[in-house]
Amino acid sequence: MPLREQTDPQHVRAILQIILAQNRPPVARCRLLSSGLGPAHMLKVSEQLAGCKACLGCGCCMDVCPVLVRDPKRRLRSEARSSMALETLVGEDCDRCGNCALACPQVDPTLKVYLVQTHLAEGMAELLAKATSEELFLLDLA
Ligand code: SF4
Ligand code: SF4
Repeated sequence: MPLREQTDPQHVRAILQIILAQNRPPVARCRLLSSGLGPAHMLKVSEQLAGCKACLGCGCCMDVCPVLVRDPKRRLRSEARSSMALETLVGEDCDRCGNCALACPQVDPTLKVYLVQTHLAEGMAELLAKATSEELFLLDLA
């Protein structure tokens, strides 16, 4: 069965640059720019969901967010595990690391490659600048 055609980052470059430059979780907007579920998805539902760009509520984006790792008490404010919850819990405290978009199964790999190639180094530099000396020590050990 053919895969859905994935979004070419060059076609959405201008909007991607705006999304990735903002201090807000980028995952939901990257998901909406993506091609959606493929026709061979394994979700047990009766509707035809091919192309659906909805959040699956898997929580992968929340699991990899350094803001929530540093401050786990924020998670207590919501039981949801969705991009909406991430937006609420992190908001403008976002480190712009891009982890959430990279972890999301609904973001096209083409957009993930663009993110890695264009913004990851910048995001990591910001993350390191915010890291505590203990975290930097652990990073050195790794
Ligand atoms: S800090 Fe990273 S993982 Fe958390 S919301 Fe921002 S870009 Fe996503
Ligand atoms: S990682 Fe999961 S919870 Fe987060 S936006 Fe993607 S589908 Fe939704």
